[in-house]
Amino acid sequence: MAKSNNTLCLDKFYPEKDLMITDIDQQSDKIIIQMKSTSSSCKCPKCNRITQKYHGTYTRKVQDLPILGKNVQLEICSHEYACLNDECEVISIAETFDGFLNNYSRMTERCADFICTLALETSCEGCARVCHTLGIKTSGDTVIRLLLKRYESLPQPEVSDVIGVDDFAYKKRHTYGTIIVNEKTHEPITLLNGRNGDTLREWLKNNKNVKVVTRDRASAYAKVISEELPDAMQVADRFHLHQNLLETIKKALNQEIPATISIPHNDTFIDAEEHCKKNRI
Ligand SMILES: [Zn+2]
Repeated sequence: MAKSNNTLCLDKFYPEKDLMITDIDQQSDKIIIQMKSTSSSCKCPKCNRITQKYHGTYTRKVQDLPILGKNVQLEICSHEYACLNDECEVISIAETFDGFLNNYSRMTERCADFICTLALETSCEGCARVCHTLGIKTSGDTVIRLLLKRYESLPQPEVSDVIGVDDFAYKKRHTYGTIIVNEKTHEPITLLNGRNGDTLREWLKNNKNVKVVTRDRASAYAKVISEELPDAMQVADRFHLHQNLLETIKKALNQEIPATISIPHNDTFIDAEEHCKKNRI
């Protein structure tokens, strides 16, 4: 007879190398998991040197992914280490357990990953409401802060020598911005405030490698590009090429077709009608 197993080993869901579960407290609305660090060394996030110099111990409280709809809080008895590199400015190092935590956040990285993914598919407020249902405590403002931190930690996108510039509305008829896109990868490079060309001018001053710019037909961008990058080729983007084409076709048709068109009189039809009336058919 096969041996039945009705227990779940939680250790497998946490970094076993340097973390050990010491107690689990199941409450009506949440699960508190107490853990302690078993590490004896740590890597400095600044200079990457491994250190074994113990600096202290503290309890760190972080939220993790929920278990079957129940909120999960980790209480981790974590170590701090001191960097031994005299040239390094870091004094104390908080453990991250190989990326399970980051140095400052109140939630695990996998919990933050889930929230960011959900927010990008829905909205910050919508994400917060779904999280609440699932057992993750967060708010719309926290979701925005998480997304901003993630965005700031991304490597700066490479500025291509072929870019596209266009305006977009933060709020239609009120606030506008300018987007710059890498035309080779079709990925956004940056967002600038306003669409009158001032912020674009500042950006172009720091990116003189640009050789080709696709843009709309607005004179504000054209003027700034001509002044800052006189050797760059300016190309009307596809949307505006279509618009130019349609306008030209409309103009040509207007010239060829008279303003008023008289419909020829249909004698046959009138005659037939009168014939019917006359003969009372
Ligand atoms: Zn260091």
